[in-house]
Amino acid sequence: MNVVVCVKQIPDPAAPAALDPGTHNLVRSGKLILDDSDAYGVEMALQLADAAGGGEVTLVSMAPNGETSGLRTALAMGAAKAILVSDDSLAGSDALSTAKVLAAAIRRAEPDLVIAATESTDGYTGTTPVQVAELLGLPSVTFAKKVEVDGQTVKVERQTEAGYDEVTSPLPAVVTVTAGVVEPRYPSFKGIMAAKSKPVDTLTAADLGLDGSQVGAGGARQQIISVVEAEARSAGEVVVDEGDAHERVIQFLEQLKIL
Ligand SMILES: Cc1cc2nc3c(=O)[nH]c(=O)nc-3n(C[C@H](O)[C@H](O)[C@H](O)COP(=O)(O)OP(=O)(O)OC[C@H]3O[C@@H](n4cnc5c(N)ncnc54)[C@H](O)[C@@H]3O)c2cc1C
Repeated sequence: MNVVVCVKQIPDPAAPAALDPGTHNLVRSGKLILDDSDAYGVEMALQLADAAGGGEVTLVSMAPNGETSGLRTALAMGAAKAILVSDDSLAGSDALSTAKVLAAAIRRAEPDLVIAATESTDGYTGTTPVQVAELLGLPSVTFAKKVEVDGQTVKVERQTEAGYDEVTSPLPAVVTVTAGVVEPRYPSFKGIMAAKSKPVDTLTAADLGLDGSQVGAGGARQQIISVVEAEARSAGEVVVDEGDAHERVIQFLEQLKIL
């Protein structure tokens, strides 16, 4: 079974983030790492390919500056190869443009199953994978906490607020996984060495038949008008218990209309 995993490469969340003062976009000029959210998808895909007794895992990523650092981490985990779409004309792409690029790259890989995370760590619109599914004309199942493939069908336990729904879908399909669906493995030293020589097919938007009216700033339907600091949290009120603390707590909850 051939599985494609969408892998977003993001600035290290541990490093201070910077916004471009002109476009308000996150500056992505430095080294990018594998988004933690996508490590779950990579692990899930490796386990499903294993369980199916064959096939391979292909990574698909769109990132600036030919960046492959995050892809190499996922290749070191065990993915076989990657498709990277990287091109200056993609700068300023919004989520829909990103989905168009990913869909065009995924179409080339002809997968049985496409896996993505429910949302990325840096942009977290949570919209890209379902847009990819729509563009590819595939069914999508979101918020998967368990995924099994049975012949030409994928069975998913879909997380809900009350518990989970059991959903089945014909393959090929797009499935988004939640953090915790599986425990991502750490790349071994052997895996890290092997990843250095695994193929990464680097494409431009034009290679995928996409032009500046569909992707990049020219194709974006969203514009970031301004960015403001989040309001600082006000200090909480300390209630010293003089026998009436429970009443004060009840009053407070009533004010919030919780009681
Ligand atoms: C007006 C505007 C301009 C922007 N300009 C830029 C820009 O110049 N450069 C830039 O990097 N970003 C830019 N962004 C942000 C970028 O569009 C989003 O980060 C991107 O579309 C993905 O959305 P998300 O992070 O919300 O992903 P989500 O929808 O939250 O992601 C869910 C999952 O989809 C998959 N996925 C998402 N993005 C990718 C990807 N790139 N490659 C592989 N898999 C992916 C991953 O599995 C991810 O976990 C811009 C956004 C806007 C609104």
